[in-house]
Amino acid sequence: MRITNIKTGVISIPLRTPFKTALRTIDHISSIVVTVETDAGVTGIGEAHPTGPITGESHGSVRGAIHEFMLPKLKGKEIANLEATLNTLDSSMVKNTSAKAAVEMAIFDLFGRLYNIPVYRLLGGYRNKVETDLTISVNSATEMAEDSKIAVARGFRILKLKVGLNSELDIARIKAVRSAVGGCVQLRLDANQGWTAREAIKIMRVIEAEGLDIELLEQPVLAHDLAGLKQVTDNIATPVLADEAVFSALDAEKIIAMHAADYINIKLMKTGGLRGALRICALAEMHNVECFIGCMMESKISITAAAHLACARSIITRCDLDSPALCLTDPVSGGVEIEGPWLKVSEAPGLGIEHIEGVVWD
Ligand SMILES: [Mg+2]
Repeated sequence: MRITNIKTGVISIPLRTPFKTALRTIDHISSIVVTVETDAGVTGIGEAHPTGPITGESHGSVRGAIHEFMLPKLKGKEIANLEATLNTLDSSMVKNTSAKAAVEMAIFDLFGRLYNIPVYRLLGGYRNKVETDLTISVNSATEMAEDSKIAVARGFRILKLKVGLNSELDIARIKAVRSAVGGCVQLRLDANQGWTAREAIKIMRVIEAEGLDIELLEQPVLAHDLAGLKQVTDNIATPVLADEAVFSALDAEKIIAMHAADYINIKLMKTGGLRGALRICALAEMHNVECFIGCMMESKISITAAAHLACARSIITRCDLDSPALCLTDPVSGGVEIEGPWLKVSEAPGLGIEHIEGVVWD
């Protein structure tokens, strides 16, 4: 089964309500859909969600990366020889991790279809379902408390609150959410690099003293500030999760060696796909550092690939794969089955995606 062509297109899905973080507000998901075609007539499916502020990519750069650099190198490459084909993809250009992730997951999809095995079994097959949290957008404390109650009514038991813009308001928001949902719901915080180390320590000490019971704090400081990240980790009781600070296993290696964070957030759009993610998992397994799997504002296509990885590996103990749950419609048939907070992978070969409605092909 040899690669003959790669196609790209755009998919746009409306959100239930606008998604707001400290940095932006969006009302729909817009991703690049990738299909890798073969001489066997079988097609692999992938997705790139380019997040400029994090990976430095755009819709245009993903298309350029795939058509100018990846496709010419991959044409004629054999799917059965997965390692060599993925080495070719990796060396086709540096960075461009979301574009690579999309093409790579489509190649894994093809490999699974070729040998009639679901990707999660190929990668370890540890379990067949995982539980995700749900992100609550940044709004007034009252609105966030209301949204949290709605999320709990939908079955979510873990909520992720975006913080990092105004510390006093953040504390009021967390208090309002905690009193709205009670003690049985887990709360996570994501500051998305919004604080200095000093600010983070000061705020978290207040939150800890108030007994707001926060499960973990994600990426409090700037991505490159590993010393600051370590300072926060060393000075608060709440575990710290590194997100924007870790793209590759090399980044994870530094963080683990310094003990700059307690946990590592793996996202396929940062690692350049499943193989980069597996390298982080292997390193984390050796050092017994639990991993978290997260996502950008992705559709169910790449969330399916992430769910297969999360189901495959036991070192991935926490999931933030909530973007499909934020969407109003689901144009993807097949793939991961989503019911409330549960993501269940099927025994269909590859990623099991059958059809995507409404793709506007280039
Ligand atoms: Mg994050």
